[in-house]
Amino acid sequence: MNVRPDSRQADIGSLRERLKHFIDTEAIPREHPALAHDVEGLDAVIRELRQKARAAGLYAPQLPIELGGLGLGWQDRAGILEEAGRSFLGPGALNCAPPDQPNMINLVRNGTPEQRRRYLEPLIEGRLRSCFAMTEPAPGAGSDPGMLKTCAVRIGKRWRINGHKWFISGAVGAAFAIVLAQTEEGATLFIVDAGQPGYEVVRNIGSMDGYQIGGHGELRFIDCEVGEEAVLGEVGKGFEYAQERLEPARLSHCMRFIGRASRAMEIAQDYAAGRTSFGKPLSELQQVQAMVADSHIDLHASRLMSLHCAGRMDAGESVKHESAMTKIFVSEAVYRVADRAVQIMGALGISDDTPVSMILRELRPFRIYDGASELHRATIARRVFREGLRP
Ligand SMILES: Cc1cc2nc3c(=O)[nH]c(=O)nc-3n(C[C@H](O)[C@H](O)[C@H](O)COP(=O)(O)OP(=O)(O)OC[C@H]3O[C@@H](n4cnc5c(N)ncnc54)[C@H](O)[C@@H]3O)c2cc1C
Repeated sequence: MNVRPDSRQADIGSLRERLKHFIDTEAIPREHPALAHDVEGLDAVIRELRQKARAAGLYAPQLPIELGGLGLGWQDRAGILEEAGRSFLGPGALNCAPPDQPNMINLVRNGTPEQRRRYLEPLIEGRLRSCFAMTEPAPGAGSDPGMLKTCAVRIGKRWRINGHKWFISGAVGAAFAIVLAQTEEGATLFIVDAGQPGYEVVRNIGSMDGYQIGGHGELRFIDCEVGEEAVLGEVGKGFEYAQERLEPARLSHCMRFIGRASRAMEIAQDYAAGRTSFGKPLSELQQVQAMVADSHIDLHASRLMSLHCAGRMDAGESVKHESAMTKIFVSEAVYRVADRAVQIMGALGISDDTPVSMILRELRPFRIYDGASELHRATIARRVFREGLRP
């Protein structure tokens, strides 16, 4: 059936309204500072919210309908991920949070029928969790994936993996990891079950952010053996597959975090309207007004850049250049917005009495992961000079 653009628009609008209601009445009330670093507690809340999201017809907006999702394209998804992203718990509730969301992309694109049955189906249903293990402590892979030290060696028909990974989001309690390891034929992705001998979760790394499902884990692989069926996609194509997941993952992060930063500013605006200083509400002070206006400008520009990328993704066009620019701009803009929200709210802004300080802490690492700002700037500039791009 051909859906007319205006009726599709109306459908997305009503979906967003229903989602807003869900986020306001189900997700936000379940947030609590004590939950931010409680991996088990978070899992329990997310499980419960997923049932409600499914019943409300809001589950997995990013997945095709035949896989149980809502089948939204990128442009339609933008406002939905933004709305879900207003709550720390929203993306998890809808099962559109990393690392499971980009892992599903890898499994859909490169998984064998057996891998899809064993790993993708339960991930989609939310019965288990996963993680993606690429980053290593020095001297291993960080910004430069070419420094990959984790290796997989063929032993007959099996592979033996040795290596050390860290900052692996979702690792604590994950049922399996998609592990990037070097082989003689090049970097390769392996699906490794968490119970496997030689697979060790060393610790949950304490960090400034919160509400990360499964924390950020440090993992060791010591003579960890897997069969040939553990290879995801083709041997030697690991970097290519890792790259394939990054562009959609980055753009989804931008959309979710625009929601998070908007919520911080909403709270700050309410504070500014209600708080008086020297006989005037803060909202009538020009320097406060400037912070609010600059934040609206940052959010508007962030939305437009994300939507532009989304349009190109929907059209099947390359977003290499645009997604790098969008990731830099949005990651820095949403942080500026959250920082201004803290400033407008004075001492209350840094407290745990409102979500604003956690939003700020959660947005800060976004300038580091999915490619640090400096790395993307270097790549953009190289492309500009190589291809002679006009400004
Ligand atoms: C919250 C969070 C979640 C994460 N989740 C995962 C995960 O699930 N799985 C996973 O594999 N990894 C994950 N990571 C790791 C993330 O991918 C790395 O932090 C990132 O790739 C940078 O690597 P690094 O930390 O080793 O920094 P380094 O490579 O040591 O770089 C440090 C800094 O040096 C500068 N720099 C580096 N290279 C350049 C360059 N070429 N030009 C200019 N400046 C440069 C940048 O300022 C950079 O921030 C996560 C990180 C964070 C913070």
